[in-house]
Amino acid sequence: MANRRGRPSVEDKRNNQYRVLMNDVEDRMLAYCSRLTGLPKSQIFRKGVEAYYQQVLLNEYGKSYGQDYDGHISLKRVVECPHCGAQNGIDCEDYIIDEISYERQMGPEIEHCFDCEDYECVSCGETFHIHGSIHEYPVGAYDSEEIKVEGE
Ligand SMILES: [Zn+2]
Repeated sequence: MANRRGRPSVEDKRNNQYRVLMNDVEDRMLAYCSRLTGLPKSQIFRKGVEAYYQQVLLNEYGKSYGQDYDGHISLKRVVECPHCGAQNGIDCEDYIIDEISYERQMGPEIEHCFDCEDYECVSCGETFHIHGSIHEYPVGAYDSEEIKVEGE
């Protein structure tokens, strides 16, 4: 924890090695982040772990003081128009139809379900259907998502 930037110090050697299997979608996400930030893929992994760790820690900290951590994850996404391929920004929060809660080890897992029947493309003006759900677990941390985009 002492030397957070730059190379790890002699006492903080990176001796732990993991072999991580990824599907094509995850691999594309990793390559995209690496290309845009200019950071090596290993750095992206470490940053991901650190961000997740901070969320888990915050969640646990809130619980020990008898209060829920109330910062929820962002539901903002970029989706591709099925008509013209243009990228559209959408805040799925505005189209919530249900919030389902499941009790798990670290408290609730929240499934944010949304449905937008006629989102208008910023580029071509055609409308399309965006629906699906984003899972938050533990509270404050992203877990997984399934988002469908369909043209009429
Ligand atoms: Zn379009």
